[in-house]
Amino acid sequence: MDIAYGICQACGRYTLIQENLCEPCWKGVLQSTHQMHTYAKCDKCGAPMLHEHAVCLHAGKNRMVIRVGPYTGDLRQLVIRYKKTGIRGLAKPIATLMSREIERMVENTTPVAIIPVPCSERSRRTRGWDHMVLVGRALSANPKLNLIQVLERQGRGELKMLGKQQREIESSRSYRLKARFGRKELALLNSCKIAFVIDDVMTTGSTLDTCISLVAGIVDIRILGLCLAMD
Ligand SMILES: [Zn+2]
Ligand SMILES: [Zn+2]
Repeated sequence: MDIAYGICQACGRYTLIQENLCEPCWKGVLQSTHQMHTYAKCDKCGAPMLHEHAVCLHAGKNRMVIRVGPYTGDLRQLVIRYKKTGIRGLAKPIATLMSREIERMVENTTPVAIIPVPCSERSRRTRGWDHMVLVGRALSANPKLNLIQVLERQGRGELKMLGKQQREIESSRSYRLKARFGRKELALLNSCKIAFVIDDVMTTGSTLDTCISLVAGIVDIRILGLCLAMD
């Protein structure tokens, strides 16, 4: 991990920084993710459970989704700041948090596909960039992690204000495979052993479910969801 002088992208102080954050800011984020690792996990869907014998309701239709942390505390702050203020430098600490989870799952010699859930056209226009694609790019600094963009949004559906059932219907309408993704991308995807579909906040899991199913339709490798924060 590189440590050098710079401006912390969370608090704005000029000090020693790592992953674009100062030590207190980085520590705060790590602390809020630790909470997640103290839970037992459902080995079918990855949901945190109070103890290993708890019965899981598999909220997200049985798709395995890795969660970096709960949507609380400093992790929540980080997500909100990244999405609302347009500080692109926060893609780096977010990518680092995600890559730690990927390292827990696969050996670092394994070729991995990173597939971002595309953001809505509206937020892309407001921000000027797609925030999860940016995280994917930061992840692909590691040559084993291949950023592959095969999904796109369709329609103008905003999922934020909807209830669970409505979200399920809307999310299946809101994403599709890109009308054209090259043969090169498909070959790259096929050369990977495992794919992680990445997203920022998971609420009902319906977005990740939809996106994982779409990817499963074009490639026969293991596909997991990876979200930064679980609401
Ligand atoms: Zn800071
Ligand atoms: Zn489960």
